Amino acid sequence: MNAASTSALEIFRPRLLQRRDRLQAASKSISAADLDLLISEIDAALQRIDNGSYGLCETCHDTIEADRLERDQLVRFCLDHLSESELRAHQQDLDLATQIQSKLLPPRGIALEDWDTHYRYEPVGAVGGDYCELIVLGDGHSLFFAVGDVAGKGVAASLLMTHLSAIFRILLSLDLPLADVVSRANRLFCESTAAAQYATLVCGRATKNGVELCNAGHCMPLLLRQHATERFDSTGLPLGLFCGAQYTVRHSSLDEGDSLVLYSDGITEAQDPEGNEYDEPRLIRSLRDRFHQDTGAVADGVLRDVARYRDTRPPHDDMTLLIVRRR
Ligand SMILES: [Zn+2]
Repeated sequence: MNAASTSALEIFRPRLLQRRDRLQAASKSISAADLDLLISEIDAALQRIDNGSYGLCETCHDTIEADRLERDQLVRFCLDHLSESELRAHQQDLDLATQIQSKLLPPRGIALEDWDTHYRYEPVGAVGGDYCELIVLGDGHSLFFAVGDVAGKGVAASLLMTHLSAIFRILLSLDLPLADVVSRANRLFCESTAAAQYATLVCGRATKNGVELCNAGHCMPLLLRQHATERFDSTGLPLGLFCGAQYTVRHSSLDEGDSLVLYSDGITEAQDPEGNEYDEPRLIRSLRDRFHQDTGAVADGVLRDVARYRDTRPPHDDMTLLIVRRR
């Protein structure tokens, strides 16, 4: 017995039977014809479990994507072999997800009295699993910023990303110290997601006194000063791995013109046609070359540089770059 049919028997059969019961209980609220159609679809799925063809695409006989079966136990075709109407529905779902996600992104070019910011968010597909946040906090004088990367890709990762975004927005309204915000976000993320789901994240708060930073397993933020570049090590586990994880915060003062740069590994792991990675030293060089440009020009310039480096190789991961500069 293969893995698909084992899980089909153990997990999907009871779910299908339960769905059948629920349908019958609700039979008064739908037409008899609709009810018959839905019941026959469920019975056909149960039959596929019995004859061992459950979870296999009816066109190519390959395994259907596990996350799609998990969401809908009645799917009969893999993504490559959807019918035209299914394909249209799938595209509509993706378009809607793209719209929802774009509304969650912060406005471009938020500026406070002491700070200029800019970011670029380039998902590799219709939706991304990177988290990018910039929020002016309640006092109107400080700024919360974050870049994160949710494990996985596509719609599933983008859903987790929106979940993370909601958690942070709620916690930020409570006016807690930064380390508490991250510890609580970790606990909430742990308790509300599956064991294999996690996110790396670096976030911070910029005030007139400088910046506070907290790094939960994410690529090191870079602090570009006039004559030197500093890197901030991760001091904590990714979010979602361990409910009791504690996080520490580092403080740093920035001089006029200094920039803090947060990014996702889609940038440093971008590959040229030979498979070599763009890497952190090249990113630092690209940023330093643009030290005196405004933040928007720096962000655009770096992403152009990455695109030039990739050349003919298509991007394979979401890319986020966020710059916070002391005015
Ligand atoms: Zn197929």
